[in-house]
Amino acid sequence: MIIMENVSKTYAKDIVGISNVNLHVKKGEFVFVVGKSGSGKSTLMKLLLKELEPTGGRIVVNGNVMNEVKRRQLPFVRRHIGVVFQDFRLLEDRSVYDNIAFAQKVIETPAKDIKKNVLKMLSMVGLLDKYKANPKELSGGEQQRVAIARALVNEPDVLLCDEPTGNLDVVTSEEIMKLIELANKQGTTVLVVTHNLDIVQQMKQRTITMSEGKIISDMAKGGFGYED
Ligand code: ADP
Ligand code: MG
Repeated sequence: MIIMENVSKTYAKDIVGISNVNLHVKKGEFVFVVGKSGSGKSTLMKLLLKELEPTGGRIVVNGNVMNEVKRRQLPFVRRHIGVVFQDFRLLEDRSVYDNIAFAQKVIETPAKDIKKNVLKMLSMVGLLDKYKANPKELSGGEQQRVAIARALVNEPDVLLCDEPTGNLDVVTSEEIMKLIELANKQGTTVLVVTHNLDIVQQMKQRTITMSEGKIISDMAKGGFGYED
């Protein structure tokens, strides 16, 4: 589902984002990405989304060679990639319902299906009763639930989460991780950047540790290669 071969990204003035990263993630896998601040985690995620171009190497996501994807093809490729960020990034001038429906309208889903799909997602994240609310009226955890519903409504093959619990308390973080785990159990391939090492240990999923732009460990069941 994800292949990175010798991928490097150098920013201006020789600042290394990542260097010579090799990573293979199979369909249906759940992978945590951990490592100190500045170790290249977000750079890796942005490269997978083609928000950044690599300085070198080859990137394949869901069968698309990202290096070769043209600008006009990018929306079609991204349709199959859900994203969740630390800061939620909801549209604050729209309701919860519309935030999730928007992703469906963009891909021209028929109106009757939009309603069905949005309600299904709201039910999955436990927010059916808040469908009319404005994101500003919700707690951080609730906003992140909406963001997850939005990321999943188009049934993406891959879900990329960059510090999805970075702004949340411990209990809420666990709830959010459970939702991401549920998406994975339903078949979505998942990559989650996190600093929450307690959760990483509990969940016992494959965990990649990054340091200075390189992958320094890749362990099967929640082990990691650095101390916070
Ligand atoms: P992490 O997400 O692990 O904290 P990042 O991928 O954001 O790390 O950053 C990796 C390195 O690349 C850091 O040294 C950071 O300062 C640098 N970097 C990230 N984004 C940029 C940018 N837009 N311009 C220049 N340097 C950047
Ligand atoms: Mg980051």
